[in-house]
Amino acid sequence: MEKHPFDILNHKKVFLLDMDGTIYNENRLFPGVLDFLAYLKERHIKSFFLTNNSSKSTNDYVKKLKLLGIDATASHIIISTHIAAHYVKRQFGEGLIYVVGTSSMVRELRHLEVNVTTEINDGIVAVLVGNDNELTFKKLHEASYLLTNGAPFIATNIDRACPVSFGYVPDCGAICEMLTHATGRKPTYMGKPHAEIVNYVKAKTNAESRDIVMVGDRLYTDMLMATKRNMTSVCLLSGEATKETIAKFPYKIDFVFDDIATLLQAMRGTL
Ligand SMILES: [Mg+2]
Repeated sequence: MEKHPFDILNHKKVFLLDMDGTIYNENRLFPGVLDFLAYLKERHIKSFFLTNNSSKSTNDYVKKLKLLGIDATASHIIISTHIAAHYVKRQFGEGLIYVVGTSSMVRELRHLEVNVTTEINDGIVAVLVGNDNELTFKKLHEASYLLTNGAPFIATNIDRACPVSFGYVPDCGAICEMLTHATGRKPTYMGKPHAEIVNYVKAKTNAESRDIVMVGDRLYTDMLMATKRNMTSVCLLSGEATKETIAKFPYKIDFVFDDIATLLQAMRGTL
């Protein structure tokens, strides 16, 4: 059978799928997602959902995906929170971590056996900030106090804004900017595009970068990780990136499609 220009994608081992802006916007699943997942399964290509959005727990995502008709288990979901948990346990062992995050994120961290608190306490060894849509000034005040006193500053994800139905709301990167303005401290970020998540993903999927395809909609996270870490980069125009912003992006993106339905057509050779 004659090869088509997108056939190379059919021979990869692992697809990492971003969620917000790639497979859905809030509670609206994009057309073609279920067919795309079925197609990967048929071809024995493994797929994982890889999100920087630390506001939800693994269980929340499993439930959300189920409601949208996607039959995913916890093992298919990788959240920046997982990488942060891995990192803080390695760095601080049982040390107490002050968390600026949602109650879901706190639950997830406890489930991952991280010693966490949301109250000021003498034994705190580090501050971990997530995408906190339950943010209060009390949390900013307490985190500023700890950071000013030298606590290490870790954050789940660099994203400045999170897509919602009407546009965007502030995300973890924006919350960290507030803390940086107040304290002069800058965080170590864990999620896409940073090194920690790449190592985590390679170990979890048992694949090398050249066997991995990253499908996403955000240039400075999804596409920066894929292009800098030698994964195959697929950018979809269903979220944040536009043809104009892609033209200005300093790294070469392998494939750009309108949406996931078009990506599926391309892989089937029917585009
Ligand atoms: Mg996205």
